[in-house]
Amino acid sequence: MFDVKAIRKDFPILNREVNGKPLIYFDNAATSQTPQQVIDVIVDYYSNYNANIHRGVHSLSQEATDAYEQARLKIQKHFNAKHPYEVILTSGTTHGINLVANGFSSLLEKGDEVIVSALEHHSNIVPWQMLCERTGAILKVIPMNENGELILSEFNSLLNENTKLVFVNHISNALGTINPIKDIIEKAHSVGAAVLVDGAQSCPHIKPDVQELDVDFYVCSAHKMCGPTGVGMLYGKEKWLKKLPPYQGGGEMIAEVTFEKTTYADLPHKFEAGTPNICGGIAFGAAIDYMNQIGFDSISQYEHGLLEYATEQLLQIEGLKIYGTSKNKTSVISFNVGNIHPYDIGTILDKMGIAVRTGHHCAQPIMDFYKIPGTIRASFMFYNTKEEIDTFIASLKKAVMMLS
Ligand code: PMP
Repeated sequence: MFDVKAIRKDFPILNREVNGKPLIYFDNAATSQTPQQVIDVIVDYYSNYNANIHRGVHSLSQEATDAYEQARLKIQKHFNAKHPYEVILTSGTTHGINLVANGFSSLLEKGDEVIVSALEHHSNIVPWQMLCERTGAILKVIPMNENGELILSEFNSLLNENTKLVFVNHISNALGTINPIKDIIEKAHSVGAAVLVDGAQSCPHIKPDVQELDVDFYVCSAHKMCGPTGVGMLYGKEKWLKKLPPYQGGGEMIAEVTFEKTTYADLPHKFEAGTPNICGGIAFGAAIDYMNQIGFDSISQYEHGLLEYATEQLLQIEGLKIYGTSKNKTSVISFNVGNIHPYDIGTILDKMGIAVRTGHHCAQPIMDFYKIPGTIRASFMFYNTKEEIDTFIASLKKAVMMLS
């Protein structure tokens, strides 16, 4: 039995009020909330064994190193990576994408082609545009349809022997569409192209198996999955991580340094220059433990119920239009009501204690496709409830009345 009441007790922030009203937090796609179990791990780290890792012979440093490497093993197991050294700890999704895009500068030539999708977050567009500027590679785009789904037949016709890389998100942050990445990966591999999947929005809801997907790179951020900000993961197949040059130079990533020549450390340290977010990495491991303890099957099933319930209720509001109507979607609803500006609705909802996101959601090409400046986005996690959705709908109706 999925016991949401018990789960909510794990999240102290859900007890607070905002503007005199109980907080209803529906901005989970921007960042998720943190359970006490993860907060305790952070407090324990700074209270008991804060030290730099991989360096000291002293006990604190050993303890911190052990906990950090233990977290890497948890992440490896969770995503089913073949080796622990295929897990690079990053500062988040954006860092992981930039690391790979930068590395491909030395592997691409003028005239090579790379493919992005129309459904991407700016983080999975801009680093590749910068790569194309550096190398003379050509950026092509898989288009989307009115439902907010990728048009795969168009993808087929973009692929050819010049295609070197495809980068696509697993789930769209702006619309919630779940993309058919297994299919995309298979097709890209058939012409020898590598694939990077942006998992920022999938990891909070499903448990990806990188070996089963046969994906070349998979990236995510801990803060979207009950962990802290400033830490994330890049999974890369060993053969690719060996091929890519280091992203940043510094301590930890070297084997030997002289003024004549420096040799680099083995994986994963080659990509982990400088002191990392040690506490964040350890807490990321704890967040993965927490989510697995609830279970991803239960999480997806429960969240799907919230999605269906909220969609049904929202569609009863006159003039309300939902963007992203694929049957294959996660618990993210983007919408507008008539010509009311999303920002105005968001501001009134905040006065009522309800946190939603308004704007272009760092996905301007999607907004351009629909010819709108932005949307209101309500995104749910497993600790949200139908009762919260009821309050949200009633408050939204009030806001619409005030603004009409
Ligand atoms: N990609 C997607 C799909 C996202 O939703 C986000 C976060 N909004 C990012 C990338 C960037 O993540 P971060 O800011 O944690 O690096």
